[in-house]
Amino acid sequence: MKVAIIGGGISGLICALMLEKKGYSPTIFEKNSAVGGVFNSFFKKGILFDIGFHYSGSLAKGQYLDTMFEYYNLKDKLKLSKYDFAFDSIYLDDKIFHIPNNSIAFKEMLKKYFPQEKIAIEKFFLECLKSSIISIDTPIDHRSLDKVMIDFKDIKLKKLLQHFTIFFSKQQHKQASFDIYAKIMISMLDGTRKIKGGGKAVVDAIKNSLKKSTIKTKSEIVEFITEEKTIKALKYNGKTEKYDSYISTIHPKTLSQLIRSENRNINRYFQHIKSLEETPSVFAIFCLIEKEIKNNLYFYDKKCLSVLPSRQHNGKTVATILIECDYNTYANLDKSAYKEKKANECAKYIKKLKKLADFGNIEVIDISTPLTKQRYSNGYNGSLYGILCSNKQKILSMLTPKSRFDNLYLAGENIIAPGLLGCWFGAEIVTNYFKDIA
Ligand SMILES: Cc1cc2nc3c(=O)[nH]c(=O)nc-3n(C[C@H](O)[C@H](O)[C@H](O)COP(=O)(O)OP(=O)(O)OC[C@H]3O[C@@H](n4cnc5c(N)ncnc54)[C@H](O)[C@@H]3O)c2cc1C
Repeated sequence: MKVAIIGGGISGLICALMLEKKGYSPTIFEKNSAVGGVFNSFFKKGILFDIGFHYSGSLAKGQYLDTMFEYYNLKDKLKLSKYDFAFDSIYLDDKIFHIPNNSIAFKEMLKKYFPQEKIAIEKFFLECLKSSIISIDTPIDHRSLDKVMIDFKDIKLKKLLQHFTIFFSKQQHKQASFDIYAKIMISMLDGTRKIKGGGKAVVDAIKNSLKKSTIKTKSEIVEFITEEKTIKALKYNGKTEKYDSYISTIHPKTLSQLIRSENRNINRYFQHIKSLEETPSVFAIFCLIEKEIKNNLYFYDKKCLSVLPSRQHNGKTVATILIECDYNTYANLDKSAYKEKKANECAKYIKKLKKLADFGNIEVIDISTPLTKQRYSNGYNGSLYGILCSNKQKILSMLTPKSRFDNLYLAGENIIAPGLLGCWFGAEIVTNYFKDIA
């Protein structure tokens, strides 16, 4: 059976790895000149910067990703390390909360800070533990985070716990899917690790493990040929190729623009995809910070400003500063206005950051706007994680890995959840539709 994977980001690579294990030899189509997508890292002025991977949960012994790394022989290829005392430091209403590498320690810390909420905290953690199991067979918990937080009275405690929504939906999103929240929160508290070499190391490890897949870079799919509810072929670089099955890991809204159909149900399906809400986009500053920063810093205000350290370079911290940003702020500017706006915004955020904490000198090496993200990944309005992982959309959207076409499957950050964990789980669910032929 011939399988085409559209998109060579981390999701496309994981799908290929899983299909190979089942006996398939898939073909990956990637529009850029290299695979890895948003997960990749890049060199500028000889410094390695990370784009879409700084750290991940679920990597402690026995957790989901750890087990997967073991099963696919990636453990020897990747060097993991723990954060010293806390992986995240949260600056919230004039207080700093350091999030420890342990769910029980975190729970106890919360009970100390918010003694009047002891019972509600215990109950909340129990609910989180129940829904934290990552397995294809576990039923989805369809509640919103807000609903499970109903017993909390203290606003600050709620805001603090809402921190974990920033990894899969948006800043302190009350309506985030609780199912994904619980999985991410517990897997991070008990298993957050850094990976030496950043996202590029993971991309290289998976790519080098692929033995039977064909990777076609600079191969942008421009159209799918359909007949009723079947995809017959795809078009790229002036060629038409036929496959038996297609796994799309690109943004579903981008995908829908590549398919023309006369079928009413299919068109309704695409209308529905178009109506789904997106995560916000980001403005990113890639820089060298004089002070050594060991863990991830989140300064919560109207917009959260995060400082994510990657590694040390000549005694300085290589870091990415991220701030939520609207695509339309940059969408309609001419070249010089765009350049000016980018420089002004950068100066504004650096100034703000210097007031928030003592960072010493900050040397800006590169900047990216929502437009950069959009051009690079071909998503929708440069959205950070694609489709918003809200409770409402998880119930209503039914963007299941099996599409309305007989032989088209959906994976990638938009389907289950973003991040290494979401993409890996999404790839497992989608490749589960493919019989073992090895
Ligand atoms: C700033 C930022 C920080 C992040 N930090 C973390 C983190 O610390 N930890 C973590 O786990 N996750 C993090 N994430 C999330 C994680 O990076 C993403 O969820 C993940 O990389 C998405 O992978 P994907 O393969 O699903 O999508 P993508 O990476 O978008 O891959 C899709 C691929 O498809 C290609 N493509 C698009 N259209 C076509 C076409 N028509 N034909 C062929 N190819 C096409 C694109 O070029 C791209 O390579 C972060 C994301 C961002 C943006």
